[in-house]
Amino acid sequence: MATLAAAGCAAQLCGASGGGAFDLLALGAGLNGVAAALQHCGAAHVLVADHPSLAEPLADRFAALIARVARERGSTLLVGAASTFSKDVLPRAAALLDAGMLSDVVDAQPDGNDFIFKRVMFAGNVIATVKLAGSPKVISVRAAAFTAPAMTEAGSSIVPVAVEAASLPDQIEFVGRDPKVAGRPDATEAKRVVSGGRALKSADDFERVVGGLADALGAAVGSSRALVDSGITPNSLQIGQTGKVVAPELYIALGISGAIQHMAGMKDAKVIVAINKDADAPIFEVADYGLVADVYEAVPQMIERLKHQ
Ligand SMILES: Cc1cc2nc3c(=O)[nH]c(=O)nc-3n(C[C@H](O)[C@H](O)[C@H](O)COP(=O)(O)OP(=O)(O)OC[C@H]3O[C@@H](n4cnc5c(N)ncnc54)[C@H](O)[C@@H]3O)c2cc1C
Repeated sequence: MATLAAAGCAAQLCGASGGGAFDLLALGAGLNGVAAALQHCGAAHVLVADHPSLAEPLADRFAALIARVARERGSTLLVGAASTFSKDVLPRAAALLDAGMLSDVVDAQPDGNDFIFKRVMFAGNVIATVKLAGSPKVISVRAAAFTAPAMTEAGSSIVPVAVEAASLPDQIEFVGRDPKVAGRPDATEAKRVVSGGRALKSADDFERVVGGLADALGAAVGSSRALVDSGITPNSLQIGQTGKVVAPELYIALGISGAIQHMAGMKDAKVIVAINKDADAPIFEVADYGLVADVYEAVPQMIERLKHQ
């Protein structure tokens, strides 16, 4: 879970600096289970803002509460998971705190009384080493770069955060949520991801070939931007620089050429398998296993084999 990577980053910084403590902040409604789970991450406190007005993740409300809690507790560093949602929330919180912010941090180390960070830039082609001026500082961390904190037996104390609905911003209105069409896991959370590229000629083909292999493996599905741009797959499936960044144990790329913008979103996968009919496709440069084949021929055979295993 990406949030645990953020907790892992905080725990790692506290450990490396030989002192210091971190709190975890949970925001939402009906958080008893979440708070209980977070109690064993080694935090000094689990701060829980549990209120019906926080049932939907509205960025302006969450940012206002994060900023208020950070001020009240004198926090020096705010760490969140790099995600589509945190891109909406954390910069708002940083602005309210007049704090500097770094996104996509992949390494964080104490440096005297300060911190030194590494962050990914230019689709993963540059790793910048940076310091942030001022305090507090806000960062989002890549889930693949940090491990979850060691679970503790003793539970952190739970501290309720008072929430007054009337004092929260109400510039953003919750309109609705489209349920996920298929019951597949989300690509950012899944251990296995099967992605399809321009080789797939229609939504039906994508579902049959990419979806079929994903289901046979219990995997999530992903897509290159080429398919999103052509309307074959929804934007929520896009993997890459302007899509989701994933680091599963297994990533299978079907008919994807391996443009740098796509690889920025999947090159940290532990094992990469590519099937492409062009033996010179750049995806084979990062693939651990490659098959030069037509996905329309090879993948249905793989699905059949997996079904009979
Ligand atoms: C600013 C910017 C941001 C971008 N962000 C992203 C991003 O987040 N994610 C992303 O994916 N792209 C992104 N792109 C687009 C990226 O540059 C590529 O255009 C895109 O990734 C190509 O998708 P593709 O590999 O599916 O298509 P193509 O590059 O067209 O490759 C298709 C591949 O399929 C193979 N193929 C064709 N038919 C078959 C078959 N039957 N069997 C097997 N193989 C077959 C071909 O050999 C080819 O290698 C971005 C571009 C820009 C400029």
